[in-house]
Amino acid sequence: MNKFTKITASIGPNSESKKVLKKMIEGGVNVCRLNFSHDTGDVQGKKIDMIREISAEVGRPVAILADLQGPKHRIGNFETEDRYPLKVGQKFILDNDSALGNSDRVQLPDEDVLRSLKIGERVLLNDGKIELKIEKISKNSVETSVIRGDEIWSRRGFNLPDTEVETSVLTKKDREDLEYVLTKNPDWVAISFVQKPEDVEEVRDFITSHTSHPVKILSKIERPNAVERIVEIASVSDGIMIARGDLAVEIPFEQVPAISRRIIRECRKLNKPVIMATQMLGSMVNSEFPLRAEISDVASAAYLRVDSTMTSEETTIGDNPINVIETMSKILTYADKDAIDNPYDWSRVENIPENDWSRSVASMAYLNKASVIVVFARDTIAATQISCRRPDIPIIAVCNEDVVANQLCLSRGIFPICDNQLFGQRDAFNAARSFSINSGKLVIVDEEKISLRILD
Ligand code: PGA
Ligand code: MN
Repeated sequence: MNKFTKITASIGPNSESKKVLKKMIEGGVNVCRLNFSHDTGDVQGKKIDMIREISAEVGRPVAILADLQGPKHRIGNFETEDRYPLKVGQKFILDNDSALGNSDRVQLPDEDVLRSLKIGERVLLNDGKIELKIEKISKNSVETSVIRGDEIWSRRGFNLPDTEVETSVLTKKDREDLEYVLTKNPDWVAISFVQKPEDVEEVRDFITSHTSHPVKILSKIERPNAVERIVEIASVSDGIMIARGDLAVEIPFEQVPAISRRIIRECRKLNKPVIMATQMLGSMVNSEFPLRAEISDVASAAYLRVDSTMTSEETTIGDNPINVIETMSKILTYADKDAIDNPYDWSRVENIPENDWSRSVASMAYLNKASVIVVFARDTIAATQISCRRPDIPIIAVCNEDVVANQLCLSRGIFPICDNQLFGQRDAFNAARSFSINSGKLVIVDEEKISLRILD
């Protein structure tokens, strides 16, 4: 019980054999992220079954996070497989003509996107390596000039940092993927390119009209307009992902650390778990050891007390996903222990009212030097809220439903167990003992009642 920061691992070609995935879960993975930008439907369904199987074998809950592709924009195809250089100062046309592209023009297949563009706005291609500025708008095309040049080729992704795109946050593909994955009872669904709170409501309506399973919604913050409305978006979401990949393209990259800190702070205030994502151990795609800067990035996330760090390509297409997880676990465990040795001063938590009950729980634990908090978790609310006070001692959540235990896997410092007997008898002492805690003080939270007991 010494790693408080959770690990969300993206699962892909190199991590989807049962043998590898089991080792990754044993090595510290708490949440498995299935990326619907790549596989769809049945292929993802099989992975879900496998993760559930491994979780039962390992005897520890694991959350499944289905990450929808969302309206990720791509240009159309070019005449050849070649790369086409775009030079600074040249004109380049984006249009709705399905003819194959060349060095003067290419199709922009999504007509809603084409219609949303305005003069002066930027189009960033290929992870921001190319910058186009819109100069002229005609009925079926826009003319741009190249501000920053590089090579492009077929189906490259692009970002529109200045544009409020008037499309649904769920594409046709997302609706199909979501409809399928809901039949597999995922614990969490992540929405990409959220722009406004209504986007989250739209997804929630879709989910509740298809299933009664209590799926949680995670909003990925990767657009400037989502950053501006972070409080409103987080308020209607169940969790947040700081999606630094697209975020650092859409926003000047030097602002991303400051924005990340702000998002973490707001999420803590609003009692929403937050994942720090993208390139955390990126160099380990083909290296056995992390970069020094990556070690520091992972540890810094732990010191900022995020709920979870995340792996991306390093565990999907990387050479050694097990090594990546072991490396991340090692870094988090050390940083978490160091942070706990220098406890967080709960009383400095901004804007949490003095009489907030979760603040009372954290303060009772802190002042009495309690060794653990045990919460009887009928649903995720109480345990999540206590976790967001960052009490820096383990929170054992005794659940009587698997889905609650799985969903709590994302939250910092929560060690969920699903045990009907312990839950039924409200047996906090045995709950603590089942995690090898045999002495010390326990703060027990059971619905409205908070009590302090000594275990010996
Ligand atoms: P993605 O999201 O990998 O689905 O793009 C994460 C990010 O943008 O950082
Ligand atoms: Mn993204």
